[in-house]
Amino acid sequence: MGFGSKLLALCSYETTKLVRIHSVRLGTLKWTLNATVLLFICLLLLWNRKYQQFDQVVSSVTAKVKGVALMQLPGEGAVIWDEADYTGFSQDKNSFFVVTNVIVTKNQKQGRCPEHPSSGRLCRRHEDCEQGNWDPHSHGIQTGSCVKFDAVTRTCEVAAWCPIEVKKKPPRPALLASAENFTVLIKNNIRFPAFNFIRRNILPNMTESYLRRCQRAHDSLCPIFTLGDIVNRAGENFSTMAVEGGVIGIQIKWDCNLDPLTRRCLPAYSFRRLDQKESNKTLYPGFNFRYQSRVKLLFLNVIMKYLSVRFAKYKTVDGVEERTLYKAFGIRFDIMVFGQAGKFSFIQLIIYIGSTLSYYALTTVLLDWLIGTSCYAAEEGQNYSERKVESVPDKKECILCVSYVDEDDIRLVKMSHKKRLQDVETISVQTRQEDIGHMTATLCLPLDPLISLAAFSKARPRPPSWCKCGACSPSPLPQEELCCRHSSEGACVAASTLFDKLALHRPLLEALLLYRDPLARMPPSAAALRRCAYRQYAAWRLGVPPADAHPAIPRCCVLRIREAFPSPDGRYGGFALPSEAEM
Ligand code: ZN
Ligand code: ZN
Repeated sequence: MGFGSKLLALCSYETTKLVRIHSVRLGTLKWTLNATVLLFICLLLLWNRKYQQFDQVVSSVTAKVKGVALMQLPGEGAVIWDEADYTGFSQDKNSFFVVTNVIVTKNQKQGRCPEHPSSGRLCRRHEDCEQGNWDPHSHGIQTGSCVKFDAVTRTCEVAAWCPIEVKKKPPRPALLASAENFTVLIKNNIRFPAFNFIRRNILPNMTESYLRRCQRAHDSLCPIFTLGDIVNRAGENFSTMAVEGGVIGIQIKWDCNLDPLTRRCLPAYSFRRLDQKESNKTLYPGFNFRYQSRVKLLFLNVIMKYLSVRFAKYKTVDGVEERTLYKAFGIRFDIMVFGQAGKFSFIQLIIYIGSTLSYYALTTVLLDWLIGTSCYAAEEGQNYSERKVESVPDKKECILCVSYVDEDDIRLVKMSHKKRLQDVETISVQTRQEDIGHMTATLCLPLDPLISLAAFSKARPRPPSWCKCGACSPSPLPQEELCCRHSSEGACVAASTLFDKLALHRPLLEALLLYRDPLARMPPSAAALRRCAYRQYAAWRLGVPPADAHPAIPRCCVLRIREAFPSPDGRYGGFALPSEAEM
C-alpha cells in the first residue's frame, strides 16, 4: 500500500448504525422515560441550585453574657455574682464559659498539713514518705514525715496550701442555677471571599431599641438568647446540667443565595449538647491538672466527668497571705459557624447539564433490556433483537440453513459433528427470503404432471427413526442425517413434480451450467450436474439464505440427485460446505 492510500485510509470517520423500530408501545415508553429523566434533572437543578457556584463561609464571633445572680455560699452567706465573676475563663474566641456551681475551700494558708488520703499515700512510719517527692495527684510536696490525718488514718505530710481541698461532689441544686436567666448577645460577622460579600447576624434594620426588646420566642433572627433557652433547645435541663457542667454547641448556619432575584442570606440557629451526657466514672476519677496564678484563675479541667475551673481569691490577714479556693463548674458554649453562598455561574450550569446527559442512556439500557428479554412480547422481541444484533459466527463454527417442507420458515442451526442434523437445536427461526429471480424463472417452466413417484420409490431398506418422509437412509456422518420434513410424517419433497423439474431435468441443468460458463465442456460431468442440482434445490427451498449461513440439503434429496447423476466410480464426497467441495 502506498503512502497516499495509507493517508486516505486514515481520513475516514466511523459512526454507529442504528435500528429504528416503529412501535407505538416502545415509542411511548421512550418518551415517558425521557420526560421522567428530564423532570428529575430539572428538579435537582432547582432544588440543589446546581446552576450556582458555591463558596464556604469565613467568620468571626464574639459573645457578651449579661446577668446578675445572688448566690448563697455555704459559710459566707449571700454573694452577688455578675459577669466579671462568672465568665472570663474561655480559652477560645469562639466559646464562652458560664459558672453555674462552685465548691469553696476557705482560708488556705501556706504551711504543712497531712495530704488527703484520696490524693496522697497512706503511711505508717516516716520512712514510708520521701522528702521532696511530688506526684500529679497530690496537692503539695512531701516533707518526709508521716502524720495523722484523722483518728485512724495517717498520711504523708506535705508543704501546701492548708487545709487541703477536700474532694467532694458539687452541691445540688447548683448554687448559680439562676444563671438560666442570663442573656447572651452573639455577634457574628461573615464573609464569602469568592463573592466579596460581607454580612452580620445583627442585620442593618436591627436598632438598639430592637435589640433591647427582641425575644427569641417570637423572632428567630433575634441574636440575644437566654442561657436556659439555649440549653432547653439542645434538649437538656438547665438545672440538671448546671450541677456538673457540660458543653453546648451553638450552630449558626448561613445558607445564602446571592442571585439578584432570589437573594436571601439569613442565619439559622440550632443547639445541641456536645459532651458525653453519661458521666464515665471509670475514667480518671478525680484526676485534675492544676494551674494557678497570683491574679486570679484558673484551671481548665477537661476530664470526662466534670467541666470545671479553679480560681482563687487572695487577701492578706495580719501580714500572712490567705486565699479562698473556688472550684467552679459551668457550661461552656461553643459557637460554630458554617454555611455556604451560591451565585449563578454559567460554567457550573454547563457542567451540570453535561453531567446529566448520561442519564438518558438509562432509557436505552432499559428498552434494550426489554427488547432482549421475554418481558416484551416474545415474537416481536425476537424480531427486534435479530434485526438489532448481527451475529458473526466464529470461524470454527458453521451455521447451517435448513428448510423443512412442512414448515414455512427456515431454521438456522449450528453444525455439529456429533449430533444428527435433524436433532440439532435451532438457533433461530427466520422468514424465508424468496430468491425472486429463481422464482420467476421457475414459473416460466413448462409443467407436465407426468412424473410419478414410481421411479424414486424403489425398494429401500426401512427408513431410520429420524426420517419422516420415508425416503432417507442412514449416513455414517451425523451432519448428513437430515430429513425434508421436521415433525409430521408425509410425502417426500424429492418425490414432488417440481423437484424433478428443477433439480433433475438434465437440459435445464446443462443450460444453467452454460449460463454460468458459456464455454463449459459439454456434456458436463456427473459431478458438475450434481453440484448444479444442489444449487437449484437450495435456491428453491431456501431462497436467499441469511449471511454466513450455508444451505443444508436433506438426505432424501441428496440420494435422489446421486441416483439421477451417479458417480462413475460409485464414490461421493462427504458432507462439505457447498462452495468448497462436491457433495
Ligand atoms: Zn426423510
Ligand atoms: Zn424426503
